[in-house]
Amino acid sequence: LFANLPEAATDAAFALIEAYKADTFPLKVDLSPGFYRDEDARPWILPSVEKAKQDLLNDSTADHEHAPILGHEALIHSAQRLVFDATCEDTATIASIQTIAGTGANHLGALFLAKARCPRTVWISDPSWINHQEIWQLVDSGIERQTYPYFDKQSFIIDFEGTISTLNLKAREGDIVILHGCAHNPTGLDLTKDQWKAVADVCEEKKLVPFFDVAYQGFATGDLAEDAWSVRHFFHNTSLEMLVAQSFSKNFGLYGERVGVLHVVCRTEIARSKATNMLSRLSRAEITTAPINGAKIVAKVLGDTNLKQQWQNDLLHMSHRMKSMRKRLVDALLKRQTPGAWEHILTDIGMFSMTGLQPDQIQTLKERYHIYLLPSGRISITGLTEHNVEYVAEAFHKVTVA
Ligand code: PLP
Repeated sequence: LFANLPEAATDAAFALIEAYKADTFPLKVDLSPGFYRDEDARPWILPSVEKAKQDLLNDSTADHEHAPILGHEALIHSAQRLVFDATCEDTATIASIQTIAGTGANHLGALFLAKARCPRTVWISDPSWINHQEIWQLVDSGIERQTYPYFDKQSFIIDFEGTISTLNLKAREGDIVILHGCAHNPTGLDLTKDQWKAVADVCEEKKLVPFFDVAYQGFATGDLAEDAWSVRHFFHNTSLEMLVAQSFSKNFGLYGERVGVLHVVCRTEIARSKATNMLSRLSRAEITTAPINGAKIVAKVLGDTNLKQQWQNDLLHMSHRMKSMRKRLVDALLKRQTPGAWEHILTDIGMFSMTGLQPDQIQTLKERYHIYLLPSGRISITGLTEHNVEYVAEAFHKVTVA
């Protein structure tokens, strides 16, 4: 029966992670995964998270019961406030449910939209986080997947004209538009505030449904409000119904805990009640209830003034390290006069940048220098450290002048 299954391609990112782990070369460098790494290229437990974990361990009332079907309540409320800067009145029209991290929020949102609205088309940026295409393909219910041209590969800038004109000319009423709230993956290029306003205007004029993916709030720039500006603009300054997939993987370093929330902004209480019922049913059939451990940690940090302050310091620490490694890499490449366009790496936001390196160069980097990056040429800045940045720059130089 299963021997006749069609071949399914292995996931490029996770295959690289395994190859990197198996590599015994002492100077190997991992620039592929979207995980934060510390000054020694090791996983980092945020001090705020560590403290919250300890506090939870001392809670003698804790048990292992299910969370409610919509998830851990304190997490949901804090999540709403965090991303929308919402008041109690605002939240009366938002249907929110805890999910299996950002991936689960994207997936449940896609399922919900497919059931609720039967859109004709979902518009995804080209390029985008690889799972956007995968998720919408999996949910497949006749919804066409289309892309809008986000990235100008020649100049390493946003193709804003292409984005706007595609949505203006080709998108139709009810279509879904996937938008990266901040720190666009994989380009590291974000819209300016004026550009976000223009996208919001197009969504209103054409009656499109924005679906924000917010995987990096606070992690991108270290500033929670700045990183949520786009979402908050759409929420407070338009009357659009919209979705937000919120992940706590990167900004809390809770990758394996799988903490996320899906928000459906309904604008009326009746719509909210219907959306909540549908979300509950869909989630019940998939996961029954969401995991509680990570949810409690996030809720604890966000609900405690001191811990929240510590968390904001932790976010600044991570974003400063990424910024300083961006500068170190660019300086090292410019010093060598390495062929290519590198200066955009200084202003890109978050953990990723596109290098423009070609597949054969990427292969050589892996085979000869034990440096791992995705076939698209995307690098994760967090794999860089003071110890390896010159080695990486030298290897980039060698493969580009060869
Ligand atoms: N969305 C984007 C844009 C991402 O880059 C990622 C992770 O890389 C996610 C969502 C999902 O993250 P998670 O499911 O680990 O929370």
